[in-house]
Amino acid sequence: MSKKTERGPGWLDKTKIRIKKSLGMKVILCDTCKWDWRGACHHTERPNATWCPDYEKRGT
Ligand code: SF4
Repeated sequence: MSKKTERGPGWLDKTKIRIKKSLGMKVILCDTCKWDWRGACHHTERPNATWCPDYEKRGT
């Protein structure tokens, strides 16, 4: 059984997001997510999620 929780970004993800932001990189996941349409995504963070347990890259 996995002990991994998906309640939020861990310190490592938070650090990565912060570094990317400081470099001016695009950190919004929804722009490239295949669930980014009404009905497919139930996250309140959409369309501006910077971290998401359900993120899947579009076009694969
Ligand atoms: S699943 Fe996550 S990354 Fe994808 S559109 Fe929804 S909130 Fe954004």
